[in-house]
Amino acid sequence: MRYLDDDRALDGNVLAGDLSEIFTPEMTSAQATCAGCRATNALGDGVAYVGGPGVVLRCRVCRHVLARFVQAREALWFDLAGIAAIRVPARGYTHH
Ligand SMILES: [Zn+2]
Repeated sequence: MRYLDDDRALDGNVLAGDLSEIFTPEMTSAQATCAGCRATNALGDGVAYVGGPGVVLRCRVCRHVLARFVQAREALWFDLAGIAAIRVPARGYTHH
């Protein structure tokens, strides 16, 4: 589907393959860039606060909120507002 008169604009479904490579079962090893201080660390190295209604994941460097996970009755919420970028190895490349 094309929008407006811009030949470069496509339906977001074109990202299906790319999204499936980013959001993998090994997300804790994905490198996340903090929107607060720009430090890049594995999501699994963040500081998780579990006492509230959900889980809040904070940057280990500046304690900026990276993400919030909330499990409601019928849905899971994953608020990524505090993450500027996520990086995972491209397929076919080895981890370093
Ligand atoms: Zn930070």
